[in-house]
Amino acid sequence: MKILYKNFLWAIITFLVLAMLFSGLLVNQELAGTLSLSETAEKIKNGEVASITIMGNNLEIGLKDGGSARAKKEDEASLTETLENYGVYPEILQGISIEVKEESGFRFWLGILIPALLPIIIIGAIFWMIFRQAKTGASQVFSFGKSNIRLFAPHKDRITFKDVAGLKEAKQELEEVVDFLKNPKKFLDLGAKIPRGVLLMGNPGTGKTMLARATAGESNVPFFHISASELVEMFVGVGASRVRDAFQTAKKAAPSILFIDEIDAVGRERGAGLGGGHDEREQTLNQILVEMDGFERDTRVVIVAATNRPDILDSALLRPGRFDRRVVLDLPDIKDREEILKIHAKDKPLEKEVNLNKVAVRTPGFSGADLANLINESAILAARKNRKVIIQQDLYDSVEKVLLGPERKSRVISEREKKITAYHEAGHALVTASLKDADPVHKISIVARGRAGGYTLKLPLEEARLRSKKQFLADLAIFLGGYTAEQEVFEDISTGASNDLKEASHLAKSLVTKYGMSDLGPMTFGKAEEMIFLGREIAVEKDYSEEVAAKIDKEVHKFIDLAHKTAQKIIGSRRKALDAIANELVKKETLEQEEFYNLLKPFNLKPLAITA
Ligand code: ADP
Ligand code: MG
Ligand code: ZN
Repeated sequence: MKILYKNFLWAIITFLVLAMLFSGLLVNQELAGTLSLSETAEKIKNGEVASITIMGNNLEIGLKDGGSARAKKEDEASLTETLENYGVYPEILQGISIEVKEESGFRFWLGILIPALLPIIIIGAIFWMIFRQAKTGASQVFSFGKSNIRLFAPHKDRITFKDVAGLKEAKQELEEVVDFLKNPKKFLDLGAKIPRGVLLMGNPGTGKTMLARATAGESNVPFFHISASELVEMFVGVGASRVRDAFQTAKKAAPSILFIDEIDAVGRERGAGLGGGHDEREQTLNQILVEMDGFERDTRVVIVAATNRPDILDSALLRPGRFDRRVVLDLPDIKDREEILKIHAKDKPLEKEVNLNKVAVRTPGFSGADLANLINESAILAARKNRKVIIQQDLYDSVEKVLLGPERKSRVISEREKKITAYHEAGHALVTASLKDADPVHKISIVARGRAGGYTLKLPLEEARLRSKKQFLADLAIFLGGYTAEQEVFEDISTGASNDLKEASHLAKSLVTKYGMSDLGPMTFGKAEEMIFLGREIAVEKDYSEEVAAKIDKEVHKFIDLAHKTAQKIIGSRRKALDAIANELVKKETLEQEEFYNLLKPFNLKPLAITA
């Protein structure tokens, strides 16, 4: 609608300009040496006129002194008649040669046509503009089925495996794809089956998109990027036609890589989920399968797809000839983290003493994207402090910022609230420091961050993929440490513990229903239903009886109870240490690992094991 208005405006402006031009032209014509009829008659009477040429109503008057002038006669009257009215009698005209010329064809027609046609032309132009507008609108509707595929040409912003830190195994797997794209003949001659689909699986930010691009860069082929979530529209069939379009584009540019990002958006197990709208998803998915099956043996297009939810993918996608190569991208370990940090710090001015290894130590569980973000945050921090270089502390501060959201120093808290928070966090920290199976405390703070009022950071000594029951029990006790400390010290409980309790309950329940760590034995209970659109568990389908449900509840209670008792035992018997930590927190607000353990040294705490 807005565009229509704009066109209309243009039409009007054009009209005005044209009108001005024409009127200007006409006026000019009249002004150039034009005589009025009475002046003409005067000149004729004075014998100054030698000749008159008549063209329509225009008179061209040749003067005896060699000059010339123009005049106009009246419409619908002959020249002699007209002049007679001015007292020029035919006798006087006899000495003058009068010539009647046909008006020049062009001018004649122009004179007639322009006034008649101009409005038509203008109206026509307006219609044409509106029509053209409507037509592009219509073609937009018809281009619906086109994928908005993005092309990264091989030479533009090229990244290669060198730019991707770590991920050694993944790179090795992809080497084969690179090899094929570079040198397909070698494979085809041997009758080898060509890699057709590669599925990259990994947590968000582990570098799936980056690695796919690097594979294209490494093989020096065009890289087509499409996000599966963009494929699906409101209308059934649109996704399928977009898939067709994307594959066609990629095939035309072969050898090439077609990257389908977040494929779980269409590749979810068919027939699962609630609500309507999966017809469209299914059709889109089917089209992907059809396109992949339709590849000739020598089609030199490799489809790379990425997902962070391999567990929910339709099994048809994983069948041979489709995405039969699966590459897992792990979260980086400490060495890889350091490398990723190095890569992203390359173009940033770091102070010489900065030790990225120490940052890597503090960032277990960070993905590549988190680490890239961390470096960026540290640069922002340094800039805000008007420094030219990034120092170690900037990096440390950014770790927490990425982890917990920005500090909210400005949040006003009363003295009492501060004290409660201090005891709460001291409770977490003391329980953590007291338990044999707990991870060491890295930092405690009562500065609000994100939504948390304070926090106690504990980090595992080494990275472990597995967690044992003993560690979980310690975790549970630590969750309840804050709650218990408040209870002990203030004989009251604040809302600050609610999140801890939620986490604790969830963990306790998982111990029983997921990990088989309770007295109910090695069994899992319940099947999680997922909400397709949100990708979240919304309901757990009960696959057990009410009796078992009651038993589960009892086991969960037992875990929580044990955790609470453990926390009470520690806090009750080590109250002096608790007070020391809390007081120090009120004073300093933040305690680093070293400060914390130094503070505890005089108390000579022995590590405890959890016993029922
Ligand atoms: P994903 O697609 O797995 O969610 P991306 O590939 O989009 O993750 O990664 C996001 C960003 O994280 C990248 O642009 C890059 O800056 C950084 N990153 C992730 N992994 C690595 C890595 N292994 N090496 C270097 N940078 C990485
Ligand atoms: Mg991605
Ligand atoms: Zn807490």
